[in-house]
Amino acid sequence: MTLLEIDLKKLEHNYSSLRKRLNHHSKMIGVIKANAYGSLSGPIAEKLVDLGVEALAVAYAQEAVELREYGIKIPLMVFYPQVESFREIIHHKIEPVLYSKRTWEKFKQALRVEKKSTYPIHIKYNTGLNRVGFHLNEADWIMEQLKDSSFNLKSIYSHLAQTEAPKPNEKTENQISLFKQIMDKHSQASSQKPDFHLLNTSGVFNYPEYHLDWVRIGLGLYGFANHPEWNKTLQPIAQLKTKITQIHQITLGETVGYNCGWKAPKNTRIAVLPIGHADGFSRQYGHGKGWVLINGQKAHIVGNVCMDMLMVDIGDIPCNEGSEVVILGSGIRADELAENAGTISYELLTALGNRIPRVLKS
Ligand SMILES: *Cc1c(COP(=O)(O)O)cnc(C)c1O
Repeated sequence: MTLLEIDLKKLEHNYSSLRKRLNHHSKMIGVIKANAYGSLSGPIAEKLVDLGVEALAVAYAQEAVELREYGIKIPLMVFYPQVESFREIIHHKIEPVLYSKRTWEKFKQALRVEKKSTYPIHIKYNTGLNRVGFHLNEADWIMEQLKDSSFNLKSIYSHLAQTEAPKPNEKTENQISLFKQIMDKHSQASSQKPDFHLLNTSGVFNYPEYHLDWVRIGLGLYGFANHPEWNKTLQPIAQLKTKITQIHQITLGETVGYNCGWKAPKNTRIAVLPIGHADGFSRQYGHGKGWVLINGQKAHIVGNVCMDMLMVDIGDIPCNEGSEVVILGSGIRADELAENAGTISYELLTALGNRIPRVLKS
């Protein structure tokens, strides 16, 4: 059967390796959105807290509520809270990021309804990614609001669009220079003294001069850093394994799978594996774009990936029904497989569905 094995020792290795890289005064926000990048957010959060991470972050409120219910007590940041979840955020002592006038007003209202004051919040500025965030020209409005406010402003941040791109990079430099203006404005005017942060995993490697007060690390904790040299300092924590369900002898000219997606160019053997696009192993890995390792040898996926299964060409690789198959792990990197199929490790990892049992190794 298909299993995703999560190695907490490797998580520990990645944490220490990243921690050593940080400027001494910089603190770490461990990003564990999307089930800790497709792994298992509860135990990962627990382990990171043990290791000494200062705060954790997720994308949406529900993810943070689940972590509180799991017993996670350290500061929990929500990057993209939706206004409908504001009261629940308050009930669970979760820290929202406010990114627009609408979220600002609505959160203020929610605090009034819940009769709370000096509630911890974070502010996100848009410096060019053009996803969410206040604009520089709203800084004066924000500072005016902060004079008389129920908010305890903990941090101000922005997010860069391409931290892994080689330096010098004009887009990133423009974003950084805008953020510096934002930092100056807030440092001068505000009576509250917020912390500042800018960098994700690749940024930590590429822009050590901007570690600032905090860094927000996701992918790196799970073993990837978007660059061959940086990757060497980390170890992928997840191994995806399965076993061959059935083997067929196929003769030249026979087809395999839906829509006759593959036609055998010679006599061969096909192994059927119990994982499909319903498990997040999407159709983009079909037609030879993806492969697995059997007995240390590459077997390419043939034809279309089905909902629950996929087929690989095993030629004369020594194996039987029931033999072990490595889908991700030693010898197969999520970033390489993803790139070959036109996507990125983030998508491959976070797509892995909850039909695949997670097993912890520590
Ligand atoms: C997901 C996310 C991160 C983490 O990025 P990685 O590249 O995985 O380290 C950091 N900041 C924000 C705002 C994010 O949404």
